[in-house]
Amino acid sequence: MKIIMLGAPGAGKGTQAKLISEKYGIPHISTGDIFRANIKNDTELGKKAKVYMDKGELVPDELTCELVVDRIAQDDCKKGFILDGFPRTIPQADALKEALQQRGEAMDFAIDIDVPDDFIINRMGGRRACPNCGATYHIVNIPPKKEGLCDVCGSPLVLRDDDQPETVKKRLDVYHAQTEPLIDYYKKEGILRKVDGTQEMEQVFAAITSVLGE
Ligand code: ADP
Ligand code: ADP
Ligand code: ZN
Repeated sequence: MKIIMLGAPGAGKGTQAKLISEKYGIPHISTGDIFRANIKNDTELGKKAKVYMDKGELVPDELTCELVVDRIAQDDCKKGFILDGFPRTIPQADALKEALQQRGEAMDFAIDIDVPDDFIINRMGGRRACPNCGATYHIVNIPPKKEGLCDVCGSPLVLRDDDQPETVKKRLDVYHAQTEPLIDYYKKEGILRKVDGTQEMEQVFAAITSVLGE
């Protein structure tokens, strides 16, 4: 099963992608996580990506598409995969489609987690991330068991640099201008499924599994 998670920054794509990955046994591929890992390891890609990410802008397609196309060609993606945060532009969607077409394949579902902007500001302000393993929490909605510490690995949680309120506003603008058109793109492809992302995490997941099947 090959799935795309669509939705604004903070809609819950990563949270749901992790749950889907566990239930269906397919890898969760987050371009944001890949970029952050590269920044942490101080790679050339990381240095380039950071400049855009800190401003709340998109990393250029040239740096992004090849990365994903290579990743989904790996062995663990044979049974399927979940793309979280990719594609974010029409050229990225075209590049994905082309790469799959060459293998006689296509995406199965694009799940749009629908959350209005005023919810997003609250979710991002309360988001805390683990810089070590990438796990994500919310100080009120989805708190870690021990305050300020990651459930998975025990590292201190941080507010991401790009989750500051001014950067969140910019990212929402970028989402509406560059990524939202993908909703129509996948509607035309016949694979768009919309779920109400304002519900609690468990309910959103139930809506998604009823789309994907048991
Ligand atoms: P969120 O989950 O809050 O939407 P991500 O972790 O997906 O945030 O992305 C963080 C940042 O990484 C984005 O604001 C953007 O700068 C960069 N990024 C991630 N994925 C892409 C992509 N597919 N194309 C361009 N930039 C990306
Ligand atoms: P995205 O990957 O789309 O940027 P995340 O999965 O990181 O979004 O979620 C953004 C923030 O909202 C996180 O702090 C997360 O814990 C919280 N969150 C995720 N899903 C829900 C939900 N259904 N209700 C309330 N808060 C949520
Ligand atoms: Zn952790």
